[in-house]
Amino acid sequence: MDATSRDHSNLLLASLPEADRLRLTGDHGPVDLTLHHVIGESGDRIRHVYFPIDGYISLIAPGGGRAQLEIGLVGNEGMLGVPLLLGVNVSPLRTLVQGAGHAWRIETAAFLAELESNAGLRAALNRYLFVFLSQLMQTATCARFHPVESRLARWLLMTRDRAHSNQFRITHEFLAYMLGVRRVGVTSAASALQRRKLIRYSRGDISVLDVRGLEAAACTCYEIDKKIYARILGRTPAKRGRVSGAARSSAAEPAPAPILYYA
Ligand SMILES: [Zn+2]
Repeated sequence: MDATSRDHSNLLLASLPEADRLRLTGDHGPVDLTLHHVIGESGDRIRHVYFPIDGYISLIAPGGGRAQLEIGLVGNEGMLGVPLLLGVNVSPLRTLVQGAGHAWRIETAAFLAELESNAGLRAALNRYLFVFLSQLMQTATCARFHPVESRLARWLLMTRDRAHSNQFRITHEFLAYMLGVRRVGVTSAASALQRRKLIRYSRGDISVLDVRGLEAAACTCYEIDKKIYARILGRTPAKRGRVSGAARSSAAEPAPAPILYYA
C-alpha cells in the first residue's frame, strides 16, 4: 500500500480538508501496529494519538485482579486518544493491538497544538467523540441485558469490519475479555454459532461463513452502533463534505477550554 492510499483509509482523516490532514500526519509514513503490542496501560500518560489504517486496537477496562473487559475496538473508522479532546492527557483504559496493520501516529503535543488552532478539526473530532461515547453506552447496556451468544456475534462482526476480512485471529482468552465471561462460556457460545454454520473457529482462527446469518444472530447493538456512526459522521469518505461543512460553520465557536494536564 502506498502512502497516498493509506492517507485516505482512515475515515476520520479522510473527512478532513487535505491541508489539515497533511499538517496532522506530517511527512513521515504510518507506523506498524504489531499484534498484541500494548500501546498503553490504564493510568498512563497519552504520548501519541493513533488513526488506524488497516489494523485495530482493543480498549480494555480493568476490573480488578485478572478481571478485564474489552469495551471497544478502534479501527480505521476512529482514533485512539479521545481523552485529549476533553482536555485530559491520561488514558483510563489498557490499549493493545488486536489486529496487526498500520496507523498514522501523531505526538500528543503536535496534536493538541493543531486542535487548539483549528476549530474545524475540533468540531470533526468532537463528532467522533460523541459516536465513541454512544458506543460505550451501548456496550454497557449490551453487557447487562444481551445473551453471550448474541454478544459474541456482535463482537465478531465488529472485528470483521475492522479487519476488512472474513478471516482473523482472536485467542480464546481474548474472546473471554470481549465478553466478560469465563472461557467455558466462550466455548459454549462459539460452538453454538459453529453449529449454525455462521462461523468456523479453530485454535484462535475465526472464519465468518455467513455474514447475513451472523448479523441476524447478533444483538441489536451492532446495528445501532453502525447507524449512529453513519448518522453523525457519514459512512464513507465520500460524505466528507458534510463533516467539513459542519466543521467550517463552527469557526465562530468560543475558544476551547484550556488543556488540563495530569503531570
Ligand atoms: Zn448487545
